[in-house]
Amino acid sequence: MRKILHADCDCFYAAVEMRDDPRLRDIPIAIGRSREHRGVIATCNYPARAYGIHSAMPTARALQLCPHLTLLPGDFDKYREVSRQIQAVFHELTPLVEPLSLDEAYLDVSEVTRFEGSATWMAEWLKRECLARTGITVSVGVAPAKFLAKVASDWDKPDGLTVIPPERVEAFVARLPVNKLHGVGPATGARLEALGIHDCSDLRRLPLERLVNEFGKFGHRLYELARGVDERPVKVERERKSVSVETTFDRDLPDLAQAREALAPLHERLRARLQRQGSPAIAGIFVKVRFDDFSLTTLESRGQAAEPDNFERLLAQAWARAERPVRLLGVGVRLPPEAARQQLSLPL
Ligand SMILES: [Mg+2]
Repeated sequence: MRKILHADCDCFYAAVEMRDDPRLRDIPIAIGRSREHRGVIATCNYPARAYGIHSAMPTARALQLCPHLTLLPGDFDKYREVSRQIQAVFHELTPLVEPLSLDEAYLDVSEVTRFEGSATWMAEWLKRECLARTGITVSVGVAPAKFLAKVASDWDKPDGLTVIPPERVEAFVARLPVNKLHGVGPATGARLEALGIHDCSDLRRLPLERLVNEFGKFGHRLYELARGVDERPVKVERERKSVSVETTFDRDLPDLAQAREALAPLHERLRARLQRQGSPAIAGIFVKVRFDDFSLTTLESRGQAAEPDNFERLLAQAWARAERPVRLLGVGVRLPPEAARQQLSLPL
């Protein structure tokens, strides 16, 4: 039986800002780009959440909900530094750490013998050490599988510690709403609702064949998750080569002008995703276009910044290859190899 921890800092960027400026502690604050730049919220603190603000919300909307919101641009060098300190605590426990972002990671502690092998004690130690060294609170979930550990870390935020021991998995999963399952987004969630399936005990009543008919390959996965089964290992090596976002449109975009208009929200999503990953140095940008005849073209430009003008130029060139209505549009950045990234961060 495996022992997995999922550790997740509570509103990380906002927590770092509140730590360094106590005046920010009890007022609604958010980190994100301005309304004028069509920005989105990267993180906000709990007073801001009380107004209904959440991450990935457009800044304009957040300011409608809370006009006196304090909006900060974010100091990503500082967040990366705090992240390094927290990751160091993780690595004192086990080398089997899979970081998901600056403030979040899975740890496989199955073989750890410290703390008499108790994953609960390990989680308590980890929370205490992170708080003592960085002043940041971390919520931790403990479970025999990754998706359960992640659900558990979110269960009692902020500063939570939720343990799902093996003998509780069965009962815990039975009551779990299906939209908490790994991979179930709004679309799949709505289809399950339409079938009258709200929680995993409902889901268990559907035979495997039915699930596969309804959801294809993902039907298998749903069948397993509904029974608490998730064999994904904690992956230590995770060198990402690119970061990208894409959209398939409800209706094909007839011409280049409309495709161009669709670029701005995509660019904003890409920027938000890069921010969550600590705004890494980039090696180049690319645009991906799928036309209405399903032909696909990807155009790349090395050494260019992820700026709207550069994406627009690439899009115009990519569109010219087929000059057809556009079904899908994607934008992304290439990351330099890990070795080069480390060199880039060396002091001069
Ligand atoms: Mg977090």
